[in-house]
Amino acid sequence: MRRQFDGNRLLIATHNAGKLDEMRQLFAPLGVEVVGGAEMNLAEPVETEDNFVGNARIKARSAVEATGLPALADDSGIEVDALNGAPGVYTADWAETPNGRDFKMAMTRTWEELEAKNAPAPRRARFCCTLMLAWPDGHEEVYEGHAPGQIVWPMRGVEGHGYDPIFQPDGYDITFGEMDADEKNRISHRARAFQALIAGSFGR
Ligand code: IMP
Repeated sequence: MRRQFDGNRLLIATHNAGKLDEMRQLFAPLGVEVVGGAEMNLAEPVETEDNFVGNARIKARSAVEATGLPALADDSGIEVDALNGAPGVYTADWAETPNGRDFKMAMTRTWEELEAKNAPAPRRARFCCTLMLAWPDGHEEVYEGHAPGQIVWPMRGVEGHGYDPIFQPDGYDITFGEMDADEKNRISHRARAFQALIAGSFGR
């Protein structure tokens, strides 16, 4: 039996306004109010682990320790089979430039590395999302969601963000970049992880 979250205010260990907004909408029907890291003046810890669970734990634990409250953190990225799971936890890092994030550059690198390896099609990949709910007594519940698919080229679509234009989910002939937000939110890695979280720890 998973531990239940029985409060009515949940701290979200993120400074990302978009993620916070998404969580606020998700939790509203459950009567749970969400509070963001920036509102609580939380520091943004450095993500030093080499796996999603480890990095979600760093964010969740740092928020719990700063506030004494239970906290929810997430970590996500894309794993490409023929690149041995890269970029994985380094998904955002592949887009870093001195002037901010450049996802066209990151998508181009992904494609060029596949070409350099002569990886056979379909070039299997999956978006991953890990959610960690952590309590002050050290207890934690981990939930994961995946969206399986393949890397395609050239980039297609202007919807979404990040690597969406080169990711074609299984069962579709359009990329996440061509899919409308409602549809993506039904099948995405994040949606699936959230469904698992709600069913597992918010079964009220
Ligand atoms: P983080 O979870 O904020 O550390 O972000 C991980 C990175 O994964 C983001 O910067 C995006 O590049 C990428 N990513 C995560 N989810 C998605 C998605 O749904 N579409 C496209 N890119 C994503």
